[in-house]
Amino acid sequence: MIIKAEWIVPMKGDPIFQGAVRVEHEHIVHAAKSSELLPQPGEEVLDLGSSVLAPGLINAHCHLDYTILRGCIDPHNSFAGWIKSINALKRDFTTEDYVKSVNDGLEMLIESGTTTVANIESFPEILPLLGPPPVRTWWFLELIDVRNRNFDETSIIGILSVFDQHPNWLGGFGLSPHAPYTASPALYRLAKSCSERLQMPFTTHVAESVQEHEMFVNARGDLYDLMKSLGRDCSDCGQGSALSHLLEYGLLTHNCLAVHMNYLQDYDYSALSELGVHIVYCPKCHSYFGHRPFELERLRQHGVNICLGTDSLASNNSLDMRAEMREARLKHAGLTNRQCLEMVTLNPAKALNQEGRIGEISDDALADLVAFDMGIHSNPYEAIIESHQRPRLLMVNGQKIDSSND
Ligand SMILES: [Zn+2]
Repeated sequence: MIIKAEWIVPMKGDPIFQGAVRVEHEHIVHAAKSSELLPQPGEEVLDLGSSVLAPGLINAHCHLDYTILRGCIDPHNSFAGWIKSINALKRDFTTEDYVKSVNDGLEMLIESGTTTVANIESFPEILPLLGPPPVRTWWFLELIDVRNRNFDETSIIGILSVFDQHPNWLGGFGLSPHAPYTASPALYRLAKSCSERLQMPFTTHVAESVQEHEMFVNARGDLYDLMKSLGRDCSDCGQGSALSHLLEYGLLTHNCLAVHMNYLQDYDYSALSELGVHIVYCPKCHSYFGHRPFELERLRQHGVNICLGTDSLASNNSLDMRAEMREARLKHAGLTNRQCLEMVTLNPAKALNQEGRIGEISDDALADLVAFDMGIHSNPYEAIIESHQRPRLLMVNGQKIDSSND
């Protein structure tokens, strides 16, 4: 089929005015000016008129399990207090609640033009109860051992077999030691070796809050006290930043998506660029907690690949990547519209080792596409970022997804 739109935004290359994309089965065949891409006899043509057609958006960090927490938790001054609130609420939720939560979250992604999500899964036992997700989903198994839960390679591979039962699902699987304050160096080491051996991506929260920073740099503060009360061995605290804690043990690799990175020390920057770690910045979650400014420019200057994510609805009010781009642009004056789009297309595709497959409109890429109305805008990048409506078209793997029932 041919899809025509006023603008095509391939991301690799410049926007195409009055463009067209040919899609066959699950792949993009070619994109060009519509005058150069004529339909073959009998070929379906979909003309989207005054729209911008782009690669489907990629959310590089989300917890669909916690869609259910939307609006439940007021912003806290204390990160430790926020964690306690979540844990208290979680006690009342059933398996059915989490299944509904994941499905509601997936619907929110569709409504806002996201076709790929990196989702942290804390309850892998719900996967057999879910249908095939409508968007390409990477399920990252969350690993925590602060309360003396012992993992070994066999138990991790056993849990991953739940994921394996769905070979026809779009996306993939990965591992996610939660954070340096809840996952021991031994657990990080295990997750790292499993992800390397099984060639899976690896993600973790690092340097999210000032309390985490205090815990690792100065061995004090609310989070330090909370973790100590839960029985964590805190002898590794007071020796440097949360990131340097992981780096010292060799626990981060080039295939790691490190989430947040709000509190870094000067010595962290060069280490990050040398390792080639990808960073996921969650702009609205960042505002929710009132963290110190994210060092976007400095990280970009060090050549770090930066992606955007929403995090969960325990610290955000939507899973809309357009809202994340607007927030990023608001906070970082030098950021261009195109750079915002790169952080939700090309950059996360690279971080998930899917370069050339998703996040771009190019020959042989997968047909994950989204179209938004141009509205009053003449610049196609701006039209995407400023859009508040459901997409005019959402396509995943060459299949149109219904998102028009508003
Ligand atoms: Zn998170």
